[in-house]
This record gives sequence, structure tokens and C-alpha cells, in this order.
Amino acid sequence: MAVEIDYYEVLEVQRDASGTEIKKSYRKMAMKYHPDQNQGDKEAEEKFKQVNEAYQVLSDEQKRATYDRYGVEGLNRQGFSQSHNMDDLGSIFESVFGSGFGFGGGGTRQREHQQYPLDVESEITLEFSEAIFGCEKEIKYRYKKPCEACDGTGDKDKKPSTCQECGGKGEQYYRQGFMTFAQECESCRGTGKKVTSRCDKCDAKGYTQEKASTKVSIPAGIDNDNRIRVSQKGNIDKRGRRGDLYVRILVLEDEHFVRDGDMIYIEVPVFFTQAVLGGVIKIPTLNGEKEINIPVGVKDKEQFVLKNEGVANVHNGRKGDMIAQVRIIYPKKLNDEQKELLIKLGDSFGYESKVSENKFDGVLDKVKNWFK
Ligand SMILES: [Zn+2]
Ligand SMILES: [Zn+2]
Repeated sequence: MAVEIDYYEVLEVQRDASGTEIKKSYRKMAMKYHPDQNQGDKEAEEKFKQVNEAYQVLSDEQKRATYDRYGVEGLNRQGFSQSHNMDDLGSIFESVFGSGFGFGGGGTRQREHQQYPLDVESEITLEFSEAIFGCEKEIKYRYKKPCEACDGTGDKDKKPSTCQECGGKGEQYYRQGFMTFAQECESCRGTGKKVTSRCDKCDAKGYTQEKASTKVSIPAGIDNDNRIRVSQKGNIDKRGRRGDLYVRILVLEDEHFVRDGDMIYIEVPVFFTQAVLGGVIKIPTLNGEKEINIPVGVKDKEQFVLKNEGVANVHNGRKGDMIAQVRIIYPKKLNDEQKELLIKLGDSFGYESKVSENKFDGVLDKVKNWFK
């Protein structure tokens, strides 16, 4: 015998709970066990079905009265069937939460049709140094505003008729699983209205694109993909609200300096003789020429930190460091004289200048022994 589920228990309400309490509890539990929130969780799905079944009964006065007196048996006898079909459950869910309710989207969707987002994005390319030190820039961009000729209706007579496809709602509905989603009506592009006499000025779109330019002061330390918001320079809607302009920053690379956040890297070529000798060498920094001390026998890729010679942080102005990395340069070709000199140099150190094997004699014998 199957155990009959107690609808009051499922919804976690008292037997004398009011309609509002039942609805409130249903909302809470339907959200909690909604399949979208519990992907692939069979138990949650089962619970979601139960919650919906319980709500179908308890939210209906007649069904509830029958259930109270005769239980599920009584409901069945009177021909009230509780749907377990996910499609129907979707409709119940919608009747409480509203159509087009999307998890993760949060809250109810905006009913008012907005033809375009209010914010505008533009882009500007800066020189390497402009980004580091900041600059003033003229941003050229375009924004949308309602067409003046047709008052934003797209209709020459300013009196568009109601869209037949969506009944003026601006939305059409489609189902996926048991959820119903609203999507913009293709026929009227979500306006709910159909243009009968097209406005020439805006090509019936209801808005025009205006060219604009604005001066923007770019702060020092700005970097690739940063965005600067320029308040109240975006699109304008029918109600006169204006969005913001967002300027995305692109920064060109430099031939010598490499930037990583607030750090600056530079490669310092050091000729091999100098690497051996060591000494002071001059290098360029963002703030002019600086000297670094190369120790005797400096290694390739050895790094030297120049404190606070990096980029000022765009938020707090604190300066990063600069890293100078040594790259040792060897001559690609030697003339006879240079060869002679280097051999002499080697000799003076007591090294045999001819490639010799004696240094490794012991090692080679040892290796041979490994394979015996
Ligand atoms: Zn429509
Ligand atoms: Zn127009």
C-alpha cells in the first residue's frame, strides 16, 4: 500500500493555514526544489512534484475542502486529478511566479519595452605612455535617441496599430520542458505595436543615431580592458532617461618596456665582456635614465629591481617596481684578432683554449663502466 502524502506536511503549513500562508510557503518551497536549482537531483524533482501537487489542491477551496474530509481518495472519486506532468507543473509555477521568471536572472522581468540598452560602449586606443601618465582624450561615439519626427513610434502619423502576432504584449511565449519563457515578439520587435506608415527619418525604427564627442580625462595607470564611465552620455529613451557612456581602454605596446599591471619590465642587453667585468650601466626607466650596478660575472636573465620605478596604480596611485632583466650578448662572429685575444684571455686564466677532453677523462671512463 502506498503511503498517502500529507499535503499540509509537504507545504509545511498548519491545517488551518490561510490561502496567503499556503501561497507563501509554496513560493519558498517551489524555489528551493525547482529543477533548475537542483540539476539532476531526482529527490529534489520528486519533492518539487509533491510541492506542486499539494499546492494544486490546497490553493483551490473546493479541492481543499474535499481533501480535508475525504483525503486524496475523495479527490479522485470526485474526479479531481492532480497533475504530475511537468508541463502542467510549469503552468502552476508560472501562475504564482509570473511567466518569464528566470532563475539566476533574479526577480521579475521588466515589463516596459526598452528598444535598446541605455548604456553605450565605446573604445579608445592609447599610446603606452598615455596610459601610464594619463591624458585627455576626445571620444567620438554614437548614441541613440527617440526619433523626433515620429516621437519614437516609428510611425509617420505617430499612431502605430497593435501588433497582431503578440496582441500588443511585445512578447511571445515558448516552452522548454515545463518552463515557459517569454521572448521578444519578432513581428513587432517587442514594441507591441505595428507601424502602418513608416517614418522615413528613422526607417520606422523609432530612434535615430546621433554622433557625439566628449572630452574624457584618462587617469594615470589605466590599463588594457579598463573601462571609464562617463555619466549621462549614453542613449536616451522615450522617457528622457539617459544612460552612461563606457569607454573601453586599449593600450598599444611599447618597443622596449613591457607592462604587467603596475610592474614594468625591461630587457637590458649586456655584452659578454661587460658581463664578466661588471660595472655601472645606464638604462631607461619611465622617469628617465637610471643607473644599475652589474656585478662581476652577472648571469643571463638575472633581474634587478628598481623600487617604485613602475606604473602608478590607477586606483591608489601607489607605484609598482621596475624589473631590469639582463640578456647577455655574445658575438656571432669573431675575426682573427678577436680570436687571438680570447685565446690569450683563456690562457691567462689557466684554461686550455683548445677544446680538450682531458677535463672529462675520469667522467667518460666512469660512464663506460656503467654499460659493462
Ligand atoms: Zn508583436
Ligand atoms: Zn521616426
